[in-house]
Amino acid sequence: MAVDTSAYREMTDEQEAIVEMVRQFADEQIIPNAEHYDHEDSFPEPIVEQMKELGLFGVTIPEEYGGMGLDLTTYAMIVEELSRGWISISGVVNTHFIGSYLLMKFGTEEQKRYFLPKMATGEIRAAFSLSEPETGSDVQGIKATAKQTAEGDWELNGQKMWVTNGLGSGVVFVLMKTDPKADPPYKGMTCFITEKEPWKEVNEGDFAGLTVPPKIKKMGYKGVESTELVYDGYKCAPDRVLGGPEGVGQGFKQMMDALEVGRVNVAARGVGIAQRALELALKYSQERKTFGKPIAQHQAISFKLADMATRLEAARLVTRKAARLKDAGERSDLEAGMAKLLASETGKENVEDAFRIHGGYGYSKEYEIERLYRDAPLLLIGEGTSEIQRMVIGKKVLQRNKI
Ligand SMILES: Cc1cc2nc3c(=O)[nH]c(=O)nc-3n(C[C@H](O)[C@H](O)[C@H](O)COP(=O)(O)OP(=O)(O)OC[C@H]3O[C@@H](n4cnc5c(N)ncnc54)[C@H](O)[C@@H]3O)c2cc1C
Repeated sequence: MAVDTSAYREMTDEQEAIVEMVRQFADEQIIPNAEHYDHEDSFPEPIVEQMKELGLFGVTIPEEYGGMGLDLTTYAMIVEELSRGWISISGVVNTHFIGSYLLMKFGTEEQKRYFLPKMATGEIRAAFSLSEPETGSDVQGIKATAKQTAEGDWELNGQKMWVTNGLGSGVVFVLMKTDPKADPPYKGMTCFITEKEPWKEVNEGDFAGLTVPPKIKKMGYKGVESTELVYDGYKCAPDRVLGGPEGVGQGFKQMMDALEVGRVNVAARGVGIAQRALELALKYSQERKTFGKPIAQHQAISFKLADMATRLEAARLVTRKAARLKDAGERSDLEAGMAKLLASETGKENVEDAFRIHGGYGYSKEYEIERLYRDAPLLLIGEGTSEIQRMVIGKKVLQRNKI
């Protein structure tokens, strides 16, 4: 059951057409198959192949590099629809999108020409790696290092954690410490474009020194793999520093910039899952009867539906605003933080309300809400936890309102 919110969407004709196409794809291909891949925790290859055919790996990549050349706002609308189907599907494109953003904004022309056409078709997928076993929120605390050898190559060593698409990706944008003495530490960090063999646990030949341990077992967000990455003497040519030689020492800033668009992307995922939770709650509450009438007619339930719909609209609007500001070249760090905070919390709250509305059946794997209940909490964590978003928002609000 689709909820009509078109009056608030302010979409162009092109956006309407794309969103309609992706929604139909989600209804026909993602939703009916998500339960199977979630249960098996297996990669949804046939769905991903169809996404390649639809061009969904190159949405924001410029046409000259083989992509669709669309803006962040349209991308966020697409992500919302994919996540309404299953957030793991949007997870397959999420870090890929961040990788293409990094290349488009900071890459050398050679790097763009080499990677973007293959990324636009989905021939190779990208992963994005900051987190380590001992640090996630505190990115300046990373320990993995890269040292330049006498021959000019960089040698990468260290362990990375929680890498989405860690096994299936063909390229990983990874943050390393290149000057351990830098003060503050962020000035001594560099982003490397590390190629690897997709789906290979132990890389050899040109990519020797990069190992992917078995995927991490998770409560939800199944189907898309999260792995560690072990760099042990992995060699990276100097032209694989993001942005070339001038990119040395710029990695932290580049990655933080990418996280800003990543936050809009996670916000869109929160809106998508919140939308789906509302749809499931609306359907179930009009079918299930207690005390002689559909439960939707009990005020306690209709108030829940009201809160869910209201939160959803607020989250969607702030997400669209953050995306539009970024597309207009305006600063959007505050809005991206607000969008990520509000939409991810809305995703979790709507899912919980829908779960309650389902009564005992919400606890059964027969009902879709059970999967959403395990999937939604991820959005509170990835691309910065809610606490970290509040830190960003608090700082920006004070900066903009200094007395
Ligand atoms: C399924 C999944 C996929 C992921 N994918 C990726 C990926 O592709 N690439 C990647 O690099 N990372 C990825 N991550 C990692 C994710 O970004 C981190 O888990 C997240 O940033 C939090 O870091 P942490 O887990 O180390 O928690 P910590 O930083 O240890 O935080 C623990 C708790 O303390 C709170 N906290 C920390 N610092 C403060 C503070 N200053 N003030 C108040 N509270 C604070 C946090 O909010 C949290 O509640 C993924 C994580 C998951 C679960």
